[in-house]
Amino acid sequence: MSITSNCKLIPLHLSLLPNPNPKLPFPNPNPPPLSPPKLLSIRCAKRAQRTGKYRYPSEKKKLKSRQQTQIDVPQKFEGFWRPSKLGVSVHRDRGKDFLDVSDALLEEIAKVLEFPVASMLPPEAFSVVRKSFDARKLLKEPKFVYTVDMDVIKLLDLEPRTWDFISQLEPKVGLIEHMLDERVSGDIINVIHDYRRIYNGVVSNEGVHIQLGESFKYPASKKPKVAIVGSGPSGLFASLVFAELGADVTLIERGQAVEQKGRDIGALVVRRILQLESNFCFGEGGAGTWSDGKLVTRIGRNSGSVLAVMKTLVHFGAPRNILVDGKPHLGTDRLVPLLRNFRRHLQGLGVNIRFGTRIDDLLVENGSVVGVKISDSSNNLKFDSQKLGCDAVVLAVGHSARDIYQMLLSHDINLCPKDFSVGLRIEHPQELINSIQYSGLATEVRSGRGKVPVADYKVVKYINGNDVDTTFNPGTVRCGCYSFCMCPGGQVVLTSTNPSELCINGMSFSRCASKWANAALVVTVSSKDFDALNFRGPLAGVEFQREFERRAATMGGGNFAVPVQTVTDFWKIRASVPPSSYRLGVKVASLHELFPNNITEALQNSLSMFDKELPGFISSNALLHGVERRTSSPVQIPHNTDTYESTSLKGLYPVGEGAGYAGGILKGDDEPTSDTLLGLALEDTDAETKSSDSDDSVPDLYPL
Ligand SMILES: Cc1cc2nc3c(=O)[nH]c(=O)nc-3n(C[C@H](O)[C@H](O)[C@H](O)COP(=O)(O)OP(=O)(O)OC[C@H]3O[C@@H](n4cnc5c(N)ncnc54)[C@H](O)[C@@H]3O)c2cc1C
Repeated sequence: MSITSNCKLIPLHLSLLPNPNPKLPFPNPNPPPLSPPKLLSIRCAKRAQRTGKYRYPSEKKKLKSRQQTQIDVPQKFEGFWRPSKLGVSVHRDRGKDFLDVSDALLEEIAKVLEFPVASMLPPEAFSVVRKSFDARKLLKEPKFVYTVDMDVIKLLDLEPRTWDFISQLEPKVGLIEHMLDERVSGDIINVIHDYRRIYNGVVSNEGVHIQLGESFKYPASKKPKVAIVGSGPSGLFASLVFAELGADVTLIERGQAVEQKGRDIGALVVRRILQLESNFCFGEGGAGTWSDGKLVTRIGRNSGSVLAVMKTLVHFGAPRNILVDGKPHLGTDRLVPLLRNFRRHLQGLGVNIRFGTRIDDLLVENGSVVGVKISDSSNNLKFDSQKLGCDAVVLAVGHSARDIYQMLLSHDINLCPKDFSVGLRIEHPQELINSIQYSGLATEVRSGRGKVPVADYKVVKYINGNDVDTTFNPGTVRCGCYSFCMCPGGQVVLTSTNPSELCINGMSFSRCASKWANAALVVTVSSKDFDALNFRGPLAGVEFQREFERRAATMGGGNFAVPVQTVTDFWKIRASVPPSSYRLGVKVASLHELFPNNITEALQNSLSMFDKELPGFISSNALLHGVERRTSSPVQIPHNTDTYESTSLKGLYPVGEGAGYAGGILKGDDEPTSDTLLGLALEDTDAETKSSDSDDSVPDLYPL
């Protein structure tokens, strides 16, 4: 979810202290007997931290003065010192899969700390907290870049002669930090358990004595009933938090559990059978399951909330190195068992998970949601629906559920069209990207088994609309064109939820071993673009998307074949194309005629500029695929920034990507964090204008 201006975690509002909304199921101690230690608060940053070059000048100044403040000598002997930007030449490092503290790393640590004899530093006193690979051309040679924690007590224990040195040590802006406590936060489950222990045996605001702690249960009569719609990342984490707090949770998912979802995706890829309710976008894990599983976020990687989410993923089976990797990545093969573990945990907490069940409508009484109408999703006869009463509805439906937007409009719920991005997916041979990025080192990639990571890229350019033909869109302001969701060693997949509409995305497995590299190349579009095609009203962006998905389906000739064109032909059509990773067939098409001129020209101009940055990017082996448009939601469902409750309907909590505040598995939002978090959905309002897939220091769209 790099942090640009505004970020918060979302899905719903799970403020533990105090509960801002009594309808939601948190014990609200009155008054709280203790203030909980910061560490245990689920509330994450109120305003997510900008990092690196994205800090405002005033923030840089503040940080500098804070870091320059001399610290007391006794404090220097407590906690941790954290040297960073420790570059170890690739030739002296064991490679991306190793996190040990090598002699070469100790030498770099000694250099940064200005410690005279590196060999005196005991490796046991250090632990790697971040490792990334930097192969930028401006460097003399590619490096692994580390951040490490130095445990002062261990250091003194193992090498008492370092005492004098530590007493002289001072923080250095951007290079050496001192922390009194190790910045650890537990996973979400532990955070909630700790919270419950702290509040053990307090009196709730209803005057009911609730025994918190491990055996805590809400009294049956007081147990709030929450319906959570959608089992994507945001719905799953919302369910986890509510269930851990003891609410009566029903998780409703129109698609199938991962086992069946896997079979349905297999039938799609092999036999061209698209199940409307169980596909790449719908089903357990939502759009994040058969995805690339990049766990990147604009919210600082070290922020407590992001760490808590990452640790929760580790709890459910993700490898521990996601906590340290500069660009953590899971891959579909790891996501599937992880989701199974997640499901079992929720069921163990008593969550009633209803797969194959779709929400068709909300039940509203006196301006408040009192329940939902549900039906068997394999049956399109909505009159068969049943009613399910509840105290609150968390709407975590993603942005492919267009029927839900229509349903919300029928209740006069405020929906706002929002800028998003459209474009094409570009695919190169992975070897070409490896050699563009790594030159001679490309041989070290070895299909993901080598010393260095499979190469990726991220490019972003701004084109001034006045410089291009604006036939369709006169007076366009700035058009941001950027690569997004780059999948090294991945494949192009079909993410349509309707056979007459064609859209694609990229996924990969954990080793990134395929011979292709794909990424979205997208341009930001806004209401001016929708207007130009006579699409107006709150769902104008949805209609705009649909229009180009239909055009792409027609260009592809049907049966889910995707229209393609080489990058070199993107100015004029020719007949032959290189192979593609897309398995349902491709058809050579005039993709340069798919979009309005201003969008096509923004893409063409950007491609020329990208080729300057990555020489060889424009290649007759690079294939453009149409159409990429589900970068983020075209609609926002406004919610109260404190309570996350819809601004137009009480008891409705729109969260995650479908609510229009988020983008990615780990997401960010315009005001920070939630409290809930725990929703693995960090929202980010200006994500659309930035490129994606980065570590903390680069703007990107995908958070977990
Ligand atoms: C192929 C692909 C690759 C991606 N790769 C990455 C990546 O590498 N990194 C990353 O961060 N992000 C990636 N993304 C984006 C990421 O998956 C989404 O941002 C994320 O899943 C959004 O989470 P969500 O919980 O808000 O919604 P979703 O994941 O979309 O989940 C919504 C769920 O709600 C259910 N639902 C919808 N309507 C109803 C209804 N009426 N009744 C009941 N259930 C309903 C759907 O079936 C779905 O399961 C990728 C997306 C795709 C499609």
